[in-house]
Amino acid sequence: MRIAFIGLGMMGRPMAERLIAGGFSVRVNDADLGLADAFGPAWAGTPAEAAREAEVLITMLPTGGIVREVLLGTGEAALALPSGAVVIDCSSSEAAGTVALGADLAARGITLVDAPVSGGVPLAREGKLTLMVGGTDDTLLARLGPILGQIGGRIVPVGPLGAGHAAKAINMAIAACTLAATCEGLALGARFGLDPATLLEVINNSTGRSAVGETVIRNHVLPRTYAQGFALALMTKDVGLADGMRGYLGLHLPLLEATHAQWRDALAELGTATDFSEYNRYVENHLEDPA
Ligand code: NAD
Repeated sequence: MRIAFIGLGMMGRPMAERLIAGGFSVRVNDADLGLADAFGPAWAGTPAEAAREAEVLITMLPTGGIVREVLLGTGEAALALPSGAVVIDCSSSEAAGTVALGADLAARGITLVDAPVSGGVPLAREGKLTLMVGGTDDTLLARLGPILGQIGGRIVPVGPLGAGHAAKAINMAIAACTLAATCEGLALGARFGLDPATLLEVINNSTGRSAVGETVIRNHVLPRTYAQGFALALMTKDVGLADGMRGYLGLHLPLLEATHAQWRDALAELGTATDFSEYNRYVENHLEDPA
């Protein structure tokens, strides 16, 4: 099956490399031309060139806005795709934008599927990501199965087009809130005189346990390496997507609103070249702030 893969960053690169290693015919493209050498003959000079004759086009880009731009804007990838092709957007995009993009692609005979991923860079390398898939039926899922199975260990159909992106945004907002709460708890404990490693061991074996505590906090916050491989800017975007859903639906969800405000503030303070685990530095910077 011929595949086009656009977006070869922290996540996209290992995902594309797994598809190539799995024997698929893959053409790749990224705005970073410095990646061309790493992909050799699989490299295409433009998104449209990658898309030509592809049966499936996968996007792994920062935002849904960029996905639209690559497909229907300056990238012109959708114009190069044959009718009957399927686009799989693995990016963490905005659900409402995905529904609108799906309608625009359908007018060209192209099917859009949203399949955002969870698991981070290590599981991307192992092909063990969780994929939350929207917009498929059993027939389409069976057709895409070999591709999805090469990058994901768990494929979860979650509903109509956009459902995957909605589920992903909600999960990320919970993870952001959990990370913030755990960083605050560790800072509180440290000021009281508790050893952070001991406190984390207690948390990770008690009711405060979380995936964030067992991975990000243990591997990157405690040793202060801050190199999980997921940008603080992207996490802030994800929390914003969930908060946007809340606003659109007119709901009062104070923890979500507060989490969004905190992450936006952290991004403004720490800048875009920051790993999301560095949120801990933002917490520590403000321990003396007046109430
Ligand atoms: P990244 O910033 O490392 O990579 C994005 C890539 O897209 C870059 O290589 C960039 O050059 C390329 N790009 C940007 N604009 C482009 C364009 N117009 N045309 C072609 N290429 C373009 O981001 P990432 O961490 O790989 O994340 C990608 C998506 O996956 C995001 O939506 C993110 O929220 C989501 N995600 C990330 C992780 C993670 O742990 N990093 C985990 C799950 C989901």
